[in-house]
This record gives sequence, structure tokens and C-alpha cells, in this order.
Amino acid sequence: MRQLVEVKVKPKSVKNIMNGYPLLAKEAVENSGVTMDEGSILRLVDSSGRYLATAYYGLQNKGIGWVLTRKEQEKIDTTFFVKKISAAVARRKNLYETEDTTAFRVFNGEGDGIGGLIIDYYDGFYVVNWYSEGMYSFREAVYQALGEVAEVRGLYEKLRFNTNGQYVEQDDYVSGEHGEFPLIVSENGMKYAVDLNDGAMTGIFLDQRNVRKALRDKYSEGKTVLNTFSYTGAFSVAAAFGGAVQTTSVDVAKRSLPKTIEQFAVNEIDHEAQDIKVMDVFDYFRYAARHDLKFDVVVLDPPSFARTKKISFSTAKDYPKLLKDTLKITSDGGVIIASTNNASFNMKKFKTFIDKAFTETNTSYKILEEHQLPEDFTVPDNYPEFNYLKVVFIKVMK
Ligand code: SAH
Repeated sequence: MRQLVEVKVKPKSVKNIMNGYPLLAKEAVENSGVTMDEGSILRLVDSSGRYLATAYYGLQNKGIGWVLTRKEQEKIDTTFFVKKISAAVARRKNLYETEDTTAFRVFNGEGDGIGGLIIDYYDGFYVVNWYSEGMYSFREAVYQALGEVAEVRGLYEKLRFNTNGQYVEQDDYVSGEHGEFPLIVSENGMKYAVDLNDGAMTGIFLDQRNVRKALRDKYSEGKTVLNTFSYTGAFSVAAAFGGAVQTTSVDVAKRSLPKTIEQFAVNEIDHEAQDIKVMDVFDYFRYAARHDLKFDVVVLDPPSFARTKKISFSTAKDYPKLLKDTLKITSDGGVIIASTNNASFNMKKFKTFIDKAFTETNTSYKILEEHQLPEDFTVPDNYPEFNYLKVVFIKVMK
């Protein structure tokens, strides 16, 4: 039996919960000392015992659980999950119907009403990401609901708990058709090779779809494009599609080389005409400066934190320095596409990092466009802090 616990919300957090704030922080509750099991249903009440919301207990790096409903009578059962997932599917109707895009997010955790649960779609296959043991305790009901709501060709899952949010190495297949990997998905007419059963990541970050399109359609024709922290080279493929004279992809991970070659190959782009470097980006900056290399467009999409033998990097601290290094190898009049998915600072703060880098190098600049999460990465109303992606296209004026 699932445990039901009454939890008192501290006065200062009551209003937030009433306004729809989805996350239950440890500091928001009075009796956080009470032992709660993963997956317990929490009846959130104010200090006078008045009902506020129903949540579940699930430890994540962000908080101790998530609000599921503010309707006292609503039960957390298969019907509940059917309701949430079918609403999410309906919201993505356009994407389901868009033939030249076959990979997107179907369910975005708190943005679709259930924090800790993420569902992505890859050409008929569904990948479910579970962010806590508590959320995972609803597995059967969620899979039943998903099967009722969607036509599931094959189902895969990723467990993102027990190891500090790290992925647990396992066979991710759950049910239905076994995918043959690489599976080729489309995005705005470009092809991407993905593998749904090879670790936490699939080969493409779906939240950058609009950025890849903008790069292809508006910034690549006749340009040299440097893609740093390139992973499988998804931005390089977009640039090549857009008519870049050459792309250069730089990533320190050895597997990035065969993966990037594969992404070019599935699009019938000759990878030998492109440059792919397995190298630390910080070493590459020195190499490029030494050889007087300049690029018309530079994509900068580092991980929030990176540690190699030589350096330790955090976007919250080091982004201005990263931009300064980039400026040295960007042509006058060139464009830097600066991106970060670090949730600990917002767009306004990110722009101060940009301004700092340009001001300190006496370079003027113009912001050409800005992107945050695309429409399928739903964010809770009134709580933009859950919109973690920040991408700014900057023109270097000199
Ligand atoms: N921009 C990519 C995603 C980047 S994921 C895309 O849109 O597809 C972050 C990547 O940074 C990983 O592939 C990782 O291998 C790489 N990375 C981390 N530290 C690095 C470093 N110091 N130099 C080069 N690559 C690095």
C-alpha cells in the first residue's frame, strides 16, 4: 500500500503552492523530519490544516517531491496519468502531424503537471525518463496510461535516480518493437541518427530544434562555422544543410568522431569535406589562435560543468572567459551563438555575462535573436525559472 502522509507547508511557501508552484522544496515543509517513503502521497496543508495540494515524495537534486494536483478529491491513479498524458499529447498535435519532424518532447515534467517524468518521442518510439524512485513507483500506471493515450511502437526507459541524477547503465528496452539503432529521425527535413539504448543521451538534444533551424536558414550560407562542444555534430549538420562552406566540430569525447561522421553520412554529406576534431575546446582555442584561424559563425554550447585533467569549468562562473576566447577566433561581423542550459541563472544574468565579455574586450555587439525552450518543452505558467535553456545570437561589430 502506498503511504499517505499529511505534510504542513510553512507559511511563507503556502502562497506559492496555491499559485501553482510545482516543486516541493525541503525548506517549504514543517515536518520534513517525518520519514516518508519514495512514492508516498503527500497531503499538503497549511498551518491550520487546510488542504492545499496533493504531491508525491521523490528525492531529486531539486527538492523532495512535486505537486500533482490541487483538487482534494483527485486520486493519483491510472485515470490521473491518462488525463495528464493525453492533455500533453493533445498539446503537441502539430508536432505529431508535422511530417518532416519526427522527434520531439511529449511530456515535459512539471510543465505538463508531473515533475520528475519526461517522455520523448522518436519516430513512434517513446523514451521515458524517471527522475526519482518515487516517480518510478508509478511506473505501471504511467505505462498503462501511455499505452491508452498513444500508439507506442516501442518503449524505452532511462532511470535517472539513485546515483545523484546520473544514469544507471542498463538495458533500456521495456516493451513493444525492439528498435534497430541507429534509428533515423527527421527534424525540419534534416536527418539525425539516434540510439535509444546507449546510455543517458540519445544523440540529439531535442530542445535545440529551433536554434538548429535558425542556424541553417539564416546564418550558414557561404560561411565557415565552428561548432564547439559539438557532441554528435547536430549543429554542424544544420550548418552544412544551410550551405556552410565548411564546418568544424570540436569535442573532447572520442565517440564524438564516429557519431559526427554518422550524422553527416545519414544526410549524404561528405564528412571528409568537413573538419571533425577530437580535442579539448580550450586547447582548440589556443591552436586556432596560433594558426590565425577565424570563423564566421561559432556555436558555443558547453555543458554546465566540465572537468578535464587540466581545467574545471562552470558556465555560471566562466562564460565570460569562454566568450572572450571565442571572440579571438571570430571574424569581424561574425556571429556567436551562445547557449547554456544551466538552470541556476536566467536570461538576464546570461546577458550580463555576454556584456562583460564584450565590454572587457572593447568590442561592440548586437543581439540578433534569442531563444529559450521550444513549445514542446512546456514550462509551468508563472514560473519561468523552469525555462532553463538560454540561447543568444550575437553579431560581433568590432
Ligand atoms: N552542443 C551539443 C551538445 C553538447 S553536450 C548539441 O547540441 O548536440 C556537451 C558536450 O561537451 C559533450 O559531448 C562533451 O563531450 C563535451 N565536452 C565537455 N567538456 C569538453 C571540453 N573541455 N572540450 C571539448 N568538449 C567537451
